[in-house]
Amino acid sequence: MPKTNETVLEINLTALGDNFRYLKSKLLPNTKFLAVVKAYAYGSDSIEIAKELERLEVDYLAVAYVNEGVKLRDAGIKTPIIVLHPQAVNFKTLIDRCLEPSLYSLKIFQEFIRVSEEKKQTNYPIHLKFNTGLNRLGFSENDVDFVTEILNETTSINVKSIFSHLAASEDEMEKDFSEKQIKTFKSISENLFQKLNYQPLKHLCNTSGILNYSEAHFNMVRSGIGLYGFSNIPSEQKNFTPIATLKTVISQIHQIEKGETVGYNRSFKSDGVLKTATIPIGHADGISRAYGNGIGWVTIQGKKAPIIGNVCMDMMMINITNIDCKEGDEVIIFGEVETAENLSENVNSISYELKTAISQRVKRVVYRK
Ligand SMILES: *Cc1c(COP(=O)(O)O)cnc(C)c1O
Repeated sequence: MPKTNETVLEINLTALGDNFRYLKSKLLPNTKFLAVVKAYAYGSDSIEIAKELERLEVDYLAVAYVNEGVKLRDAGIKTPIIVLHPQAVNFKTLIDRCLEPSLYSLKIFQEFIRVSEEKKQTNYPIHLKFNTGLNRLGFSENDVDFVTEILNETTSINVKSIFSHLAASEDEMEKDFSEKQIKTFKSISENLFQKLNYQPLKHLCNTSGILNYSEAHFNMVRSGIGLYGFSNIPSEQKNFTPIATLKTVISQIHQIEKGETVGYNRSFKSDGVLKTATIPIGHADGISRAYGNGIGWVTIQGKKAPIIGNVCMDMMMINITNIDCKEGDEVIIFGEVETAENLSENVNSISYELKTAISQRVKRVVYRK
């Protein structure tokens, strides 16, 4: 990439393909692959990423909400799209745009059947989500009888898949719990398949589930964070490349004398002479105030420059006292070497949160390497 002259989020499509192929190498040849592109493809660029994933021939895409799916359809994406957490108010739009709902409660299930009958649908593809321990969304094991009774009475919908979600698939300490979830999921699907006269797909694993529980891949796996270059498993990280690099440039350099302060509320007080740089990225761009006052850092020429004072809305100040740099020089917030995961650890967060917070104001640039 040429040197940047403003704040950009660079997205490496080659790395996306590499991460995808690595995850695929963990699967049996017939196991389907669902790519999760919710929240702007984890803060990157949902349209560019979905187009590339379509070229890579993923079987399914998933978003969280209907408006995210509409955006992909508007961009010409043809791959089937599951909407993981649809709201009933958007069901008509969902059907009009050929999006496939995940139905997770009796209320939303019945409401979807009502709308699909009203819109004269037959065999409209839906996905049933079961709760096996995350206690977030999903039917309970006890709902199977009621759900299958209703299913056998309507021709408006067709169950394409049944699925559940692991609560701690990356955590070795929670292996027993994950195995219990796998067992519960198997028993729910056996029970449901007996009562339906056809067999939907079954899927359970997210990225770290793919890596840790090969016995639970079933017919399909769902990956988000792995595609974007994070495994959540330290021994696996070498096989992944973070696809996003957040960069900016130095706007201005200041010499600070002993006793001077830097930034709002004068929260940094200098006890010596130092050099600071102001960079055009702030909490409105997704770098939270939690990173201020020496908690977070950026890199210039591979050297760490701590954030000093409070992070402002549109900019922040960094300590460059021991770095030989000038106005206009490039600053890396996170990327392949100093990763979003490393930076987010400073504030007890995770790469997912830091990446998805990068606001739409930041320009996205895709490239291949
Ligand atoms: C977000 C999400 C995923 C993706 O999980 P990763 O850890 O990013 O691979 C998979 N399944 C469901 C239901 C999700 O909500």
